[in-house]
Amino acid sequence: MSMESWHERSKTVQIDGRALIGGMRRDAILGARFDCLSPIDGRKLAEVARCSDADVDAAVTSARAAFEDGRWAGLAPGERKRVLIRLADLMLVHQDELALLETLDMGKPIRYSRDVDVRLAQNCIRWYGEAIDKLYGEVAPSPQDSLALITREPVGVVAAIIPWNYPMLMAAWKIGPALAAGNSLVLKPSEKAPLTSLRLAELALEAGVPEGVFNVVPGYGDEAGRALGLHMDVDCIAFTGSTRVGKQILQMAGQSNLKRAWTELGGKSANIVCADCPDLDAAVAGAIGSIYFNQGESCNAPSRLFVEASIRDAFLDKALALVPRYAPGDPLDESTVMGAIVDATQMQTVLGYIEDGKAAGARLLAGGQAARIETGGLYIEPTLFDGVEATMRIAREEIFGPVLSVLSFTDLDEAVRQANSTPYGLAAAVWTADIAKAIRTSRRLRAGTVHVNQYDNDDITVPFGGYKQSGNGRDKSLHAFDKYTELKTTWIQV
Ligand code: NAP
Ligand code: MG
Repeated sequence: MSMESWHERSKTVQIDGRALIGGMRRDAILGARFDCLSPIDGRKLAEVARCSDADVDAAVTSARAAFEDGRWAGLAPGERKRVLIRLADLMLVHQDELALLETLDMGKPIRYSRDVDVRLAQNCIRWYGEAIDKLYGEVAPSPQDSLALITREPVGVVAAIIPWNYPMLMAAWKIGPALAAGNSLVLKPSEKAPLTSLRLAELALEAGVPEGVFNVVPGYGDEAGRALGLHMDVDCIAFTGSTRVGKQILQMAGQSNLKRAWTELGGKSANIVCADCPDLDAAVAGAIGSIYFNQGESCNAPSRLFVEASIRDAFLDKALALVPRYAPGDPLDESTVMGAIVDATQMQTVLGYIEDGKAAGARLLAGGQAARIETGGLYIEPTLFDGVEATMRIAREEIFGPVLSVLSFTDLDEAVRQANSTPYGLAAAVWTADIAKAIRTSRRLRAGTVHVNQYDNDDITVPFGGYKQSGNGRDKSLHAFDKYTELKTTWIQV
């Protein structure tokens, strides 16, 4: 679609900001709403229901009722499969609308909303639908006078709280396995990007997910989110977001009913490029492309780049030649690769880190400024700091914006030590042509995902999650079912 037609469509796209509870669109019980603003140009997109305790309670009650009467959990796995595949098909039918909502709501380029986010999100739901009627239980090697069956049952009512950086995809990573396993769900999207979650729940109804099984309560974290965290009738909470809030989620689980609490949290991923890397151009393209993708708002963004000193100058020359390609553009133009920063608060956070890096003595080699101010939107230039020291805040804290910190090293052991010297452990990478060195290094990197000689491999078939303070769960792959099922042992006397 041309830029003009995306803009035309953005003027007429229907947006319903009401919650979805028990199969019905509803205003918040107290009538509160918040404005949903677009970071593209500051326009108001909709008013969205600001759900709080009473709405969360209604959603949990409706999810509980649906779970107890078996309208979804009681279906044969093959039936749930058919419905989830219909949902995935409907997401493709509505892919332009979903992509447009995502881009308007959180600012990412339309080409990625459609070709990455919608595509991966529908594939995720399809994949878990496909998987669910192929999972078998176990028969234990028990003594002859008994039979012990080990089966998986849905946990019950799952609450999912998700961030704004990949709203539809993060929703899909929860919805897919949670619904496939037979749970009922209450989803709280980020207040910064609630629109695709609401639309997905409508499409799920259309696909045949029964009323009450999939509820969405938009609202603020310390209202709707907290109410879910503390709710006594939520069996499992699946959280993706910051480490700060992840810690609160675990506390809320402990303070309330010890609901199973799974956290997928932040990162400060290290990307180590050795002098013997097999293809310097590929290493540069991987480093630059991955830090600036999604405006740098990726949990696994390789935000700390360790370059071996002997290739540092060559690396930086090539990197600086690539950076201008990521200049922010109109997110509704299909040629744009860097869009808008999600909101003014995040914009200030990122600009604050840039000032901090300058003040600490790092060398600003590219970017550093707000851009496209005349649009009324929120944009930041792709930014690159060289001469970063491990002690600086820009080397230690998650910035969650288009800012790359370059450190150099002469001793790989020291680089690995520094790479691991962070509270986070989400992803890491090493580039080297020496296979033994690659394997030794990847074994030593304390991260849930280690990339060797690339950074962007990704597939629904592999688990995704963190070590250390990057969280305790795994999304994607069959391992995700561990979060949404209980293991039951049944002993039978023979
Ligand atoms: P966030 O501030 O932690 O918020 C995440 C979600 O939690 C939002 O829906 C938020 O609601 C809600 N929330 C906030 N305070 C809460 C509270 N007291 N109780 C319950 N819920 C609460 O994180 P974010 O800024 O949206 O997302 C960015 C973070 O997510 C980054 O750290 C990133 O690395 C991480 N992330 C991790 C993964 C992964 O798979 N490991 C994937 C994507 C993102 P409101 O925003 O509406 O207030
Ligand atoms: Mg928004």
